[in-house]
Amino acid sequence: MSFDIQKIRADFPILQQQIYKRPLIYFDNAASTQKPRQVIDAISHYYEHDNCNIHRGVHYLSVKATEAYEEARKEIRQFINAASTHEIIFTKGATESLNLVAFSFGEKYIKPGDEVITSIMEHHSNFVPWQQMCIERGATLRILGVNEHGELDLEELRLFLNEKTRLVAITHVSNVLGTVNPVKEIVAMAHLHGVPVLLDGAQGVSHLPVDVQDLDCDFYCFSGHKLYAPMGTGVMYGKEKYLEEMPPYQLGGEMIKDVYTDHTTFNELPFKFEAGTPNVEGVMGLQAAIHYLQDIGMERIAVYEERLLNYATEKLSAMEGIRFFGTSTHKASLISFLIGDIHPYDAGMIIDKMGIAVRTGHHCAMPLMDYLKIPGTVRASFAFYNTIEEIDQLVAAIVKAREMLS
Ligand code: PLP
Repeated sequence: MSFDIQKIRADFPILQQQIYKRPLIYFDNAASTQKPRQVIDAISHYYEHDNCNIHRGVHYLSVKATEAYEEARKEIRQFINAASTHEIIFTKGATESLNLVAFSFGEKYIKPGDEVITSIMEHHSNFVPWQQMCIERGATLRILGVNEHGELDLEELRLFLNEKTRLVAITHVSNVLGTVNPVKEIVAMAHLHGVPVLLDGAQGVSHLPVDVQDLDCDFYCFSGHKLYAPMGTGVMYGKEKYLEEMPPYQLGGEMIKDVYTDHTTFNELPFKFEAGTPNVEGVMGLQAAIHYLQDIGMERIAVYEERLLNYATEKLSAMEGIRFFGTSTHKASLISFLIGDIHPYDAGMIIDKMGIAVRTGHHCAMPLMDYLKIPGTVRASFAFYNTIEEIDQLVAAIVKAREMLS
């Protein structure tokens, strides 16, 4: 089946606009993706027909909204092939999912002297919670480095794993380098030592088909807004055997079973981890986004995005003075680079004036910037609604930025 790019682009109203009298070119998809009409309509539909607080009422609307919410949970279970809906916890994003695991898992399983392994390529959201949790609990955070291509060294992981290791927390795909980590191998290695593995899927789930049972990861965390769904939505997948034992992360309504004046018993999974009124509208949008992606097919999306990545890499490689950060052969569709000695912020400003949104700066990965000894990069991240012609425009904008700033 051919990939009908014009039909796809027509689904995204925001892409139809002009900025600075030029058609908007949106290459900041790793920060947040745009939303198709189908997602926007699902939110309106919810408020026009179903809006009500869920899980609490016996009346018609409450039951309808609850059923819709729980149906979405079933579809998300299917989307990542979790074994049970008990393992799908709705959160407000990857950051909340990662904090939930760090503090709840930490409280249950991490003692003074224990070790947690992470990597230097992590987003702050999968770095700071582990760092702080280790400080609080008297544990040690061990940090894997990267090679000149921006890849993890599995030999280093082998050396780090020992009887004190309690968890490996690694990103599926780096938001700076684009590297797709060999997460299946990482999980297998850690499991040989009986160590569970958390994958930060914030950049993985939007580019690759994810099957958590096949990966055999113990936790998988992601945000809806990077998956063409509304902001304020996210998922924490965790294996039931851990979630059953882990304490609640937040306390309040919904997550309780019975409350007495002197103690409280907690609800069953997944509700134990979902305190308070959830973002029902957002979950309706997340469900619509997943339908939309499934209609196109995650495999086809991956193939098309790889074409964009290869084209952009080839074009930028042919330019003088471009330094790439992240040259692994296993990459998702983003490129991080510097143009000669030009500061990324200055380059980003000129590129913006050409109607092109790229991200500049440290990309919430300051330890990686220190490791690479750079202030930041320019990052162009592609989605399946981007085109080869747009990449040609980016090349022209880089030429212009170099002319003006060199
Ligand atoms: N992890 C990675 C790899 C990311 O790229 C991001 C966001 O850019 C996050 C975690 C945090 O996601 P959010 O801000 O949606 O919670």
